[in-house]
Amino acid sequence: MKHFNYREGELFCEGVPARSLAEKYGTPLYVYSRNSFLDAYRDICRAFAKASPLVAFSVKSCSNLAILNILREAGAGFDIVSGGELHRVVKVGADPRKVVFSGVGKSDPEILQALDQDILMFNVESEAELDNLQAMSAGMGTVAPVALRLNPDVDAHTHAKTTTGKKENKFGIDFSVASRIIRNIAEQPNIRLLGLDVHLGSPIYSTLPYRQALAKLTDFIKEHRSPRAHLEYLNIGGGYGLLYRDQAVPSFQEYADAIIPFIGKTGCKLILEPGRSLSGNGAVLLSRVLYTKNNGTRHFTIVDAGMSDLVRPAMYDAYHFCWPTQYARTPPAELFGSPEAKDYLNRETGEDWEAPPSGAVDAEGFRLTDVVGPICESSDCFTRGRRLPVLERGDLISFFSAGAYGFSMSSNYNSRPRPAEVLVNGGESREIRKRETLPELTAGEAWQ
Ligand SMILES: *Cc1c(COP(=O)(O)O)cnc(C)c1O
Repeated sequence: MKHFNYREGELFCEGVPARSLAEKYGTPLYVYSRNSFLDAYRDICRAFAKASPLVAFSVKSCSNLAILNILREAGAGFDIVSGGELHRVVKVGADPRKVVFSGVGKSDPEILQALDQDILMFNVESEAELDNLQAMSAGMGTVAPVALRLNPDVDAHTHAKTTTGKKENKFGIDFSVASRIIRNIAEQPNIRLLGLDVHLGSPIYSTLPYRQALAKLTDFIKEHRSPRAHLEYLNIGGGYGLLYRDQAVPSFQEYADAIIPFIGKTGCKLILEPGRSLSGNGAVLLSRVLYTKNNGTRHFTIVDAGMSDLVRPAMYDAYHFCWPTQYARTPPAELFGSPEAKDYLNRETGEDWEAPPSGAVDAEGFRLTDVVGPICESSDCFTRGRRLPVLERGDLISFFSAGAYGFSMSSNYNSRPRPAEVLVNGGESREIRKRETLPELTAGEAWQ
């Protein structure tokens, strides 16, 4: 996370100290780095330059209008999965010809909205959806541009809740069904079949699933191309890995080297749908320590952010590196993703290391603690037995790599107003979403 680093013991986002943002905007607080998004977007464009792809940012990973606008200005298109996301990208002035619409359950109003906007294409996920789209576009006297989302039955080796390309997942169309659809495509005169689409899951820390899926897709394209089925686009989806901890993450170049040869073989135009890999390391979640306690067997650090603000640990058992925003000794910028990190992280899990009793402060000033939120759920826990510098009431802590599926998955559970979002550009900060207020929390409810 190049744009989040420690200087003289203090965490900075670009040129602004995190502490000053917490004081100005309160906590919990999402802090985004504009240049982090731009760097990631330019990296993926550079890596795939030979194929000049449409890079359609996955809006669901991070959907604030200001973030979408940064990427639009840089040239990105968008992968949307709802009418709400279409509303967002239209609002920031996205070119509809760079918008693709995925999802297994597009409702009629959402389909109308997208036909109205004249988006680039629908990624259709079932025969029933295609039939509905045919009927609706016939009703409007228009033709719907479509890619068929295939289910390649490839194991992406990722969390069970985020794998999408296996037969047992709800996503995509079986190859035999897709064959039949294409053979009978003349019966769907209001459908223009533009290509094929897959999305394998997320995050995928290897290029192998992409190569496996592309091998199947390129064969399928060769067998099924016809004047009524040009299949000129191949959309390989998202899922590119992100460094959260100490994983070996393929670079965009490595993904590109695996993907581009297949594109060459088919002569297709390439579409990519990166989400996490562009947004994940673009933000931290700042939180303040409320209390600490020791129940005899475990030590707890209770912070003011909870699973309503960042649900990934509770939902996906996800790891987020966390560290005090002020720390005079070894800064985590060096621990995180460096050779030293492995040693440190091993000790976090206790594998190569005799852990002291929970709550005891060791010779280096660390203690094992569970960092937990205020929500009334045992799953509201960011870390279990994590080795952290001693934290006290009032200290600030930062959860790193919180840009993807962070705020966008936040909720009002426990009737908690959602946190504010702040965007940093160089030495400037700007609130891009106000903290929700209590009246906003109940607006729209009728109690009498
Ligand atoms: C969520 C999603 C993506 C983005 O996945 P990342 O892992 O964030 O890159 C891309 N395409 C589709 C269809 C998705 O549902």
